[in-house]
Amino acid sequence: MSVMTKEVYGLTVERDPQERLGPDDMVAVREAEFLHRALTAAQAAMHQPALPRGRCGNCGEACAPTALYCDDDCRDDHQRRLAAQRHTRGR
Ligand SMILES: [Zn+2]
Repeated sequence: MSVMTKEVYGLTVERDPQERLGPDDMVAVREAEFLHRALTAAQAAMHQPALPRGRCGNCGEACAPTALYCDDDCRDDHQRRLAAQRHTRGR
């Protein structure tokens, strides 16, 4: 029996090429792929570095002790830059 290996979303999947999946099996496969993608996206979001509080995440100036940014302009600027970085990395 030869086994076909395939890389799916960073996971190596082994499948017997003779195997034919029925509709219910296809649903299970699709569901597993969807869950894996959702989990990966959630983990990536959780591992974004947390911004230190008390210092502006955009310009580095000291600001209110619990604030992430010194003002709304800096917040908008920084979030635009983060969104641009995410776009560049292809997500
Ligand atoms: Zn600032």
